[in-house]
Amino acid sequence: MDAARDIAALRRMLDAARGTVVFTGAGISTDSGIPDFRGPGGTWARLRPIPFQDFVTSAAARREAWRRRFESEPVLRAARPNRGHRAVARLIREGRARSVITQNIDGLHQASGIPEGQVIELHGNTTYARCLGCGARHEIATLQAAFEREGEVPDCAACGGLLKTATISFGQAMPEAAMRRAREETLAADLFLVLGSSLVVQPAASFPEMAKRNGARLVIVNRQETPLDGIADLVIRHGIAEAMGGAVGPE
Ligand code: ZN
Repeated sequence: MDAARDIAALRRMLDAARGTVVFTGAGISTDSGIPDFRGPGGTWARLRPIPFQDFVTSAAARREAWRRRFESEPVLRAARPNRGHRAVARLIREGRARSVITQNIDGLHQASGIPEGQVIELHGNTTYARCLGCGARHEIATLQAAFEREGEVPDCAACGGLLKTATISFGQAMPEAAMRRAREETLAADLFLVLGSSLVVQPAASFPEMAKRNGARLVIVNRQETPLDGIADLVIRHGIAEAMGGAVGPE
């Protein structure tokens, strides 16, 4: 496998595409210091996820969910977009990519300068919280200060509802609007570019397959094999920063 040849092939496919849609997973953010919590040895891998049902019915589960969230805050706050994120942002800025569909909850695509409306978050966003009752946004720093003072996160001041990070938990319904937009974008793509996803989490992983069935070309850049490598037009096993930096051009 020849890195220069693969990167040149990716560059040609990006140049030939009329509408690229980028799909990202944890692998694009590991270079920003965010552990892949599904990956082996990740510090968060040892902890059993807290299902949505437990969160809404148990004060103890909520305390544990928030304790974990605040424990990860220094890492999240320090994380900055890396070369991979910046290459995607450049494709969007130059009108060469339409949008980014992401499984990530770290907000780094927005931090790289991509307008909110062009980032489709399938699993939500952990950099802020929302009220499960009225949907009002709440900031993490405020909730953390209250948690440290009182041992729990307050309920929504507006409606009394429970506050939760704006993520989609296990057992929680997928976000309808994001899923609809992801489908529309996938069907509008003539090049579908997967960056750093193992493509095992459903229904997220169904989008590359949908793109391919719809006639788009499919490129997968991921360190490990994925179940869709066999139908991809190009599979690149090098780092995302190296591959995308090389294919999109110098910064
Ligand atoms: Zn509320």
